[in-house]
Amino acid sequence: AEADLVELVEQAADAFRVTHGDHPLTVAPGPSALSLRLDPQRVRQVLDNLLTNAAMHTPPGTPVSVAVSLANDTAQVRIADAGPGIPPADRERVFDRFYRVDKARSRDRGGSGLGLAVAQSLIRAHGGRIDLTSEPGATVFTVTVPLAVGALTNP
Ligand code: ATP
Ligand code: MG
Repeated sequence: AEADLVELVEQAADAFRVTHGDHPLTVAPGPSALSLRLDPQRVRQVLDNLLTNAAMHTPPGTPVSVAVSLANDTAQVRIADAGPGIPPADRERVFDRFYRVDKARSRDRGGSGLGLAVAQSLIRAHGGRIDLTSEPGATVFTVTVPLAVGALTNP
């Protein structure tokens, strides 16, 4: 099915503002619409996971931003936070099932450690990928999906 990626991002941003009002959210200016062959529910789930992480794993008040852009034959959604960051040794493992950087603290916050593993498999099912860069004050998850995809596969 075709769905508008920009509209999905705006809907996810609206939901974030309701549920995570203690984290200021900026939506960067970008394309006004971007109709793609994607599963809107699953992509929305990925956006919600990444935005929730940016709030749940950073101190209250930490700014969060989201941006949609076009790069070559792909669309990208960049979800960034100004939190403490993810140490280098943890950056690949955070996509593993049940992996949490600070287990005691994450348990307090109710996370199971599944969110990123699920998000990655959902985006791979769209022929895309999720990349992570992080340093103190700048953690960025970039979701990349092809503008033209083949048949959606089940994750
Ligand atoms: P779940 O999403 O299943 O409720 P979770 O958020 O703990 O639980 P993931 O979303 O898979 O699990 O994230 C794995 C771990 O990566 C988190 O526990 C946290 O330690 C770390 N992490 C994820 N996003 C961020 C972020 N934006 N800033 C700092 N750490 C993060
Ligand atoms: Mg999570």
